[in-house]
Amino acid sequence: MASAFVDKARISIHAGKGGDGAVAFHREKYIAAGGPDGGDGGRGGDVVFSVDDNMSTLMDFRYKRKYTAGNGANGTGKRCYGKDGETLVIKVPRGTIVRDTATGAIMHDMSDGEDWVAAKGGRGGWGNLHFATPTRQVPRFAKPGLPGESHDVTLELKLLADVGLVGFPNVGKSTLLSVVSKAHPKIANYHFTTLFPNLGVVYVDEGASFVLADIPGIIEGASDGAGLGHDFLRHIERCRLLIHLVDVSGSEGRDPVEDFNAINAELREYNTELASRPQIVAANKCDLLADRENIERLREAAEKEGYRFFELSAITHQGTRELMGECARRLAELPPVQRFEADYVPPAPTIDTSEELSIQHFDDMWVVEGPWLQRLVATVNFSDYESRMFFDRILRESGVFKRMEEMGVQDGDTVSMYDLMFEYKE
Ligand code: GDP
Ligand code: MG
Repeated sequence: MASAFVDKARISIHAGKGGDGAVAFHREKYIAAGGPDGGDGGRGGDVVFSVDDNMSTLMDFRYKRKYTAGNGANGTGKRCYGKDGETLVIKVPRGTIVRDTATGAIMHDMSDGEDWVAAKGGRGGWGNLHFATPTRQVPRFAKPGLPGESHDVTLELKLLADVGLVGFPNVGKSTLLSVVSKAHPKIANYHFTTLFPNLGVVYVDEGASFVLADIPGIIEGASDGAGLGHDFLRHIERCRLLIHLVDVSGSEGRDPVEDFNAINAELREYNTELASRPQIVAANKCDLLADRENIERLREAAEKEGYRFFELSAITHQGTRELMGECARRLAELPPVQRFEADYVPPAPTIDTSEELSIQHFDDMWVVEGPWLQRLVATVNFSDYESRMFFDRILRESGVFKRMEEMGVQDGDTVSMYDLMFEYKE
């Protein structure tokens, strides 16, 4: 067992900080006092998740845990804008679910091919060239850039396949996948050879196609966490249809009906919904049988549960076409592969108004800054009335306007709070 299949990983992602705006003044020979020309800071880079269909595990995330996008560059004089920070693209296999680590809530399901912005870069600060007015010709201040978003996230791979192969180790799952698709899973006559799920595309005669997944064998007690199988059950959660493969040859001294019941019990134990997933039962290794007793016993057990039953020899291809045709027919009537809805709700920011704010004024321009105010500004939605009222209430309660009055603020002065600017009204 060389390296285990990695289908869960915990990482932290950090978008870039916005660059600071510049304070600068135009200088030219023979011109005594030029106007302000400090440029804006660049935007911080986003962290984006992107599906890469060449990836089938989360192995790459095992050693690298921290992912940081580029910071925006600071603005400079001569109206030069800072460069935007570089976007960080994190490639993940299709079907990866991104969860908020703290709550376990789902932030996004990377099932379609769309890129998803997981952490937004901070906006760049304005340079002083924005702050010149007829009455304020020498603005000696600029805005700092805003920090980017950060998250601790857990990636979890839930494969996207239409049909999942379930069964004990060694029943012939990998063999079946290899004969009905172009996939090349490892096939060997000992248990647990399949450590990685394998996906193959099956094309049937009618021009239809579907994705078939061979996951590592489920073993008894898997749903209680015993042995390998447990972790792998999550990969069949999305499958629309299951092929339950049973070795009827008795070649390992096992009883096919007992195996059939044991696997169904495992599915039920893991997730009752999985046990009621549409299932087709296939008796494999029929080529090894001298008499039909095992086949008939299994057929009876399967049909009693209402499942369709097929006789198979994966190795000689006997019955494989019929089985794949039946899968395609059933899939045509089944709902599409399950996508997980996001249920993550960003927590309210911690606003502690007892923390000190800095209030500076430059003529009629008031610049108010402080960590809690920054968090507040970043989360308030100014196009929403409720949100604006909340912002207003917090500000009043914090006593910031009272302090400004003591410092001599006048009606009509400009108040600047991060990327928010408004006129002061008593
Ligand atoms: P898995 O563990 O379920 O993926 O099983 P494999 O596909 O690796 O097969 C296990 C062993 O059973 C291998 O030696 C296969 O060659 C053999 N096998 C698979 N299908 C058949 C079959 O239909 N007939 C016979 N005789 N052997 C088979
Ligand atoms: Mg296998």
